[in-house]
Amino acid sequence: MKVFIACLGTETNTFSNLPTGWKTFEETMLFYGDATDNEPNTFSLPLHIWRKRSEERNYEVIESVAAFAQPGGKTLDSVYEDLRDKVLSDLRSAGEVDIVLLSLHGAMTAESYEDCEGDLISCIRQLVGDQTVIAAELDLHCSVTPRMVEKSNLFVTFKLYPHTDIGARAEEVFDLASGAALGAITPKMSVLDCHMINKFRTSNPEMADIVAYMRELENEEGILSVSFAHGFPWQDVPHTTAKVLVVSDDNEEKGNVVAAGLRDRIWKARDQLVQPTLSIDEALSLISENSGLTIMADVADNAGGGAPSDSTFVLARALERGDQKLLVAYFWDPVAVRIAVEAGEGQSILIRVGGKTGPSSGMPVDLQCTVESIKEDASQTFGDTKTPMGTAVWLRGNAGVDVVLTSKRTQVFHPDGMTCLGIDPSSYKGIVVKSSQHFYAGFEPIAEQIGYINAPGDIPPDFANIAFTKLSNPFWPKEPGPFWAPVD
Ligand SMILES: [Zn+2]
Repeated sequence: MKVFIACLGTETNTFSNLPTGWKTFEETMLFYGDATDNEPNTFSLPLHIWRKRSEERNYEVIESVAAFAQPGGKTLDSVYEDLRDKVLSDLRSAGEVDIVLLSLHGAMTAESYEDCEGDLISCIRQLVGDQTVIAAELDLHCSVTPRMVEKSNLFVTFKLYPHTDIGARAEEVFDLASGAALGAITPKMSVLDCHMINKFRTSNPEMADIVAYMRELENEEGILSVSFAHGFPWQDVPHTTAKVLVVSDDNEEKGNVVAAGLRDRIWKARDQLVQPTLSIDEALSLISENSGLTIMADVADNAGGGAPSDSTFVLARALERGDQKLLVAYFWDPVAVRIAVEAGEGQSILIRVGGKTGPSSGMPVDLQCTVESIKEDASQTFGDTKTPMGTAVWLRGNAGVDVVLTSKRTQVFHPDGMTCLGIDPSSYKGIVVKSSQHFYAGFEPIAEQIGYINAPGDIPPDFANIAFTKLSNPFWPKEPGPFWAPVD
């Protein structure tokens, strides 16, 4: 058995003014056939697992590109085409293969390619023919397109948000793909459009129940895998809306029934799946009222959704109000990092922070502060992997509001990105994290309360009013629905 493995992806915020080119791939992840010789990260982890599982069975492994870019705006055509063509040339050189396993995001758009995954998978299918099994693990924030489905054998998406099940889903993809290649199963995909756009956090009890229900459905006779593809709200493409995706064992009829039941279950829960948000002032007041540590997510400036991670709206307001014992993290500000590093630890400086990337970042803030600590090659935990932050700097503000700067653009994943600088999170009344949800697993154990702020930014959680130009599907919450006749 010959197995071909590759990773190519990013999550494209088509509204972002940050171009996604070579520099972003190089900074995030770019390997040419040797990702599994290096430490696993979020999107190379499946490759590590697929290699290990293949070698245990004495399958031959051909490893190709592993490329992932921190989310931003559209990928440059030339960059996408170079990476795609490298995957295809490796595949051509490999000769006949039995299985192609892909670690993809599922919401990647290049300048002239609305559906990069559909394009990549179509090219692969054309090369390998109909007998080879093509299977992919997708981020649950994917836009599943008919082209992707038509040209593949099976998809499995993460089930959890925060994404703490990437490894488990990679195991599942391997088992299903190898089962299909051995002829033990015949995967068939049933996909239904949910006509919904939302952030479906699995820390929400109702969403956790839906995940449990999906697991129950996987125990049904003839059902191999059940996924809920949430979609990525800020990717303006025709297939942005959420989908349910059921893989049956050669039983599309049953797959369709299970998919319809799951879709109804999610639809009925829609009002409970909306995450309430707070204004900046409400959030800051709640922080000062609580006795313990309060974590507030500045969701609109999450680098993981393609936002710049340098907006100053919350910082500026906290300084105006005179809030104390507050930390705001992380500001992507390589210029400020450079200035702080030049000054050195212990130095008192006046520094201009954030507000540099565009109008959605607000105005820069001048901060009188002490450079408390500097850490080169800082990193933070995300699931089973480490993600790089570049050089990180902790600035202690004279007015009682501290910030952390990073030279690499990244969201806040885990408190260890702060403790590696010597920060004790529990010494603050409030920490404002620029992240939508991935911070949750790491910070929940140390937080008295967690809240979500609706501040201005590149990815505001106002789903009814996203300025779509390509999405013609009606969707909730813009329209009340329902958009189909429920099963029962
Ligand atoms: Zn995601």
